[in-house]
Amino acid sequence: MKKNAILSICIIAITIVLASFMEWDAIGVEEDLYFSTDLTLKELARRNGVPAKEILHILSHEDMTAWDLPLDVPIKNLDIDAAKIEHALEHIMEEDRPIVNVLKYVLWAIWISLVLNVVLSLKNIKRFRIVILLLTVLVFGVLLGATPNPMESIVKLFKVFNNMEGDPKAVIVSFILFSLFSVVGSKMLCSWGCQLGTLQESIFNIPIFKKKYKFQLPFVVSLSIRLSLFILFLLLLFGVGVGIKNFVIYHHVNYFKIYNVHDLAVFALYSSPIFVLASLFIYRPFCQFICPFGLYSWLLENVAINKIKIIEDKCTKCQKCVEICPTQAMKGIYEKKRRYFLPDCWSCGACIEVCPTNAIKYGYNEELARDNKIRSG
Ligand code: SF4
Ligand code: SF4
Repeated sequence: MKKNAILSICIIAITIVLASFMEWDAIGVEEDLYFSTDLTLKELARRNGVPAKEILHILSHEDMTAWDLPLDVPIKNLDIDAAKIEHALEHIMEEDRPIVNVLKYVLWAIWISLVLNVVLSLKNIKRFRIVILLLTVLVFGVLLGATPNPMESIVKLFKVFNNMEGDPKAVIVSFILFSLFSVVGSKMLCSWGCQLGTLQESIFNIPIFKKKYKFQLPFVVSLSIRLSLFILFLLLLFGVGVGIKNFVIYHHVNYFKIYNVHDLAVFALYSSPIFVLASLFIYRPFCQFICPFGLYSWLLENVAINKIKIIEDKCTKCQKCVEICPTQAMKGIYEKKRRYFLPDCWSCGACIEVCPTNAIKYGYNEELARDNKIRSG
């Protein structure tokens, strides 16, 4: 059996075990929301098994002064509409859908295994890709919803450190699973499985504008913006040197919530036309400029087991791969200026298909060790 087939079986098995472990306590338990204005916020949180800080966090989306609400005063005596507190609690508990979450992780593992073992070896990857992108939008977005998603695996991890998440076990397992997917297949999950990444690329593929109107910004620009935003996120979350604390900046640009539109933050709602417009002209603008998981998986690309590589003996230097690449990834691999920290490769497979001599492979990187005639990211 091929190495990637064995690897895929292992990944699916690990995902089933970890995802079930993550949600084990919750499966089969009907968690009814309990609400009474006689309770204090602290009591309400304890009674429903969520951190009080998470309730304040949801309330703060509308009004930052919510962080000043006293936790030991009965809700009926607080200077806030009790219905808002009940709604915040509903929101937190709605996101907890154990069966759906387990199903989604396992489906993701199967999905990327199929791409790794079957789709990337097909002759006409592009045609299949368009169909798979739309299927991903439909299955992982429209049907299975905005959460869980790779971006939140990063954001929630830091919220755990700030005591703002109710279920650290679920957050840590989610982070491990998404990391595992990326170590196995570089940006395979982002490319073929992320509900928001595939939505952006589907918009990008709409043939309204010719290729000459689509543009790439230098990688150093996109990386700087993505990194700066991440640093700002940390400063605002932990309140370091900015006078604000517990502020989750990614919440306000969380376009994943397009799939649960009633949860979309006000800023994200009003800026969503810009998101759509930008996606028409720029390849995956959210992924390249905003997403913290994009940043993290870019780092993981350096240690990924499978990635794009050029077999030098077969390469005729026609550079068709560089032309077709939607980002500067192939330019980086082709020019071979450095081996690490190249521009993000979105594992789209376009370069594999366009190469007239089959010189590009998506595969096991251990070959690098025994064949130095391979150029790889
Ligand atoms: S980088 Fe893009 S594809 Fe990857 S998790 Fe973020 S939104 Fe999804
Ligand atoms: S190098 Fe470019 S074209 Fe090739 S898989 Fe990566 S992003 Fe796609």
